[in-house]
Amino acid sequence: MVEIKSVQDVDVNGKNVLMRVDFNVPLNEGLVRDDSRIRAALPTIEMLLNGGARLVLASHLGRPGGKYSPDLMMNPIADRLTEILGRTVHKLDTVAGTGLSEAVRRMKDGELLLLENLRFEKGEEENDPDFARRLAEPFDLFVNDAFGTAHRAHASTAGVASYLPAVAGLLMKKEIEELSTCLENPRRPLTAILGGAKVSDKINVIRRFLSLADNLLVGGGMANTFLAAEGYNLGASFYEKNQVEEAKALIRESKNSRCRLVLPIDLAVTRELAPGSYSEVVPPDQIGPEWKAVDIGPETSAIYSVYIEESAMVVWNGPLGVFEVPPFDNGTDVVAQAVAQGSAYSVIGGGDLVAALEALSLSKYIDFVSTGGGATLEFWEGKELPGISVLQKKNS
Ligand code: ADP
Ligand code: MG
Repeated sequence: MVEIKSVQDVDVNGKNVLMRVDFNVPLNEGLVRDDSRIRAALPTIEMLLNGGARLVLASHLGRPGGKYSPDLMMNPIADRLTEILGRTVHKLDTVAGTGLSEAVRRMKDGELLLLENLRFEKGEEENDPDFARRLAEPFDLFVNDAFGTAHRAHASTAGVASYLPAVAGLLMKKEIEELSTCLENPRRPLTAILGGAKVSDKINVIRRFLSLADNLLVGGGMANTFLAAEGYNLGASFYEKNQVEEAKALIRESKNSRCRLVLPIDLAVTRELAPGSYSEVVPPDQIGPEWKAVDIGPETSAIYSVYIEESAMVVWNGPLGVFEVPPFDNGTDVVAQAVAQGSAYSVIGGGDLVAALEALSLSKYIDFVSTGGGATLEFWEGKELPGISVLQKKNS
C-alpha cells in the first residue's frame, strides 16, 4: 500500500485550509434526509478546527450541470452541520473568486465556512485549470476527504492539487486502508459477494475477486446473466444478453482459479414486481416464460450463509435481489444476518447495498461500510483514482 500523507502529518495552525467533502446527501423537500455523509466528515473537521485551521468546506450536491439551481443550494447542509456541530456554519453564496478570497481573509483561526455547490460552476466537472486556480487561490493546504468522489478528476478533487499541497482527510485515509487490505492482505478464507443489477458495471471487480478470493457468491440481476450463460432460460427476468459471452468467459476462468464461483440454485420469481406480490421459489431450470427472477431463494441464502460462517473475511457489493420491493429483500436480509452474526471481518460498499442494509438496520454490524459507490468499485478494480493519486506520498 502506498502511504499517503494525511491531516495527521501536517501542522494546520493558522493555515487557510480547503477541505473537499462529500456532502452529496439525499434531500427531501429541501431538508437533509440522511446526514451520514456529513457525520462521516466530522472527525477531520474537528481535528482541523482544534488544530487552529481556518477551514472552508466544499462539496457538490446533485447534478446542476454547471449552472445555478435553487433546489441544489447548500443551505440545508449548512443548517444540518450547524445543528450537529452546535455552532453556526455560514454558507457562502459563491464558489470561487473575489467573494471567496475576501471571506477567507476575514476568517479567524478555528473558524469554518461552507462553499456553495461546486457544480454550479462549469469549470468544476471540466477540471478547468483556471477555475481550479481561482478556487485554490486563498488557501495554504488542500485536504481531500471526499472518497465518494475520488474517482472523478474534477477541479475540487484533483485540479486544485496543482496549486496547493494536498493531503488526505481521516475518512479518505481510512477508506484507502480498509479497501486496500481487502486486496493486498485479506484474511482467509476470503469470500466475496457480488450482486446488484449488471455484470457490465462490475466486470473488472468480478475478475479481480475471481483471482483473489476463495469464494465468489453471486446474486441479484447479475446472477441472472450468469445463469443465462449456463444455458438456463430466464423467462421474463432482467439480464444482460450482451454480457452472456463475458459471463461464460468468467465461468471458464473460474475453473482454473483458486476461487469457487457459486451461483444461485433457487430463485424467488414473480409475474408482477410489486410490494407483497405473489411469488414462488423455483430452481433455475423452472422459470416460466412470464416470470421474473427477482431474488435468490432460501436454499441459496442458506448455502451462502454457510460460506460466510466459514470465512475470515467477507467483502460485499450489490444487493442480492430487488430489495426496494419487499419481500424481495429476503435474500439480502438473510445473507446480511449471516455476515452480522459471523466472526468474519466484513467490508461492504455500493450505494444500493449500503441503503439496503441501512433499511434492514444491519449496517451497524458491519466492520467497515465504505462511503463510496463508484469510487469503491474502481478502487477494488485496481484503477488509479484521480482524487487519491494527487495526494502527497509519505516520505516525499
Ligand atoms: P450497488 O449500488 O450496491 O453497487 P447496483 O447499483 O449494482 O448495486 O444494483 C442495485 C440494483 O440492482 C437495485 O436497484 C436492485 O433492484 C437491482 N437488482 C437486484 N437484483 C435484481 C434482479 N434479480 N432483477 C433486477 N434487478 C435487480
Ligand atoms: Mg447502485
